[in-house]
Amino acid sequence: MKDQITLLVDIQKIDQNVRTLNNRKQTLPEKAAELDQSFRLSKERIEEERTGLEGLNKLHRERESELKTGQDRLRKAKERLLEVKTNKEYQAMLTEIETLEQANGRIEEEILVLYDRIDERRGALRVHEREFEQVRATFEAERKKIDEDMASLDGALQEQKARFDALIGNLEPSLRRRYEMIKVRRNGIAIVAARKGICSGCNMNIPPQLYNELQRSEQILCCPNCNRILYWEEGANGE
Ligand SMILES: [Zn+2]
Repeated sequence: MKDQITLLVDIQKIDQNVRTLNNRKQTLPEKAAELDQSFRLSKERIEEERTGLEGLNKLHRERESELKTGQDRLRKAKERLLEVKTNKEYQAMLTEIETLEQANGRIEEEILVLYDRIDERRGALRVHEREFEQVRATFEAERKKIDEDMASLDGALQEQKARFDALIGNLEPSLRRRYEMIKVRRNGIAIVAARKGICSGCNMNIPPQLYNELQRSEQILCCPNCNRILYWEEGANGE
């Protein structure tokens, strides 16, 4: 019976290890999802910034092209000025030229403002891109760590399963059933040590007669309070 108790204690340890490993494993996908989400947001922000800058560059090119058209018109208007015959036509041409010059001037101003904005945004983007590369490196390292943790937890779980399989065949089926039943009812802990007259599962005193019987380890005995299987732990009772 003593061997069965030792076996059961070992099996319970394995069960607890499996539970701990599974709990750790369960947190990993959530951690990975959080990392992915945070990285995606950083990436989106930098992409928005790039798109914004591209938009400004496009606007800048459009204004440059408008200015070129405006300058062509102005040049042609000035050429025509040399060909007009009447004073009235001359005045009309001057007005047209003035209007064209004003329009070109507005475009030029807009181009200067755009140029400053582009310059500013380009500088900011360069800084943010460097920061983003750092974010990416951290993300990739953390993501790799999660994958490694997952693999190492899987390895540890397989190891525990192999140990469990090697032991469980030696456990008496009736004792196994009893163990499983108590385990479900008592939060995973079905077998506990008796230490200094106390059940280490519920911390209640063990009746002296039961405590004496435990030392002889002739049968499976349970705590009258929490119903867990009790065992006498060598060296833990000061004897
Ligand atoms: Zn108890």
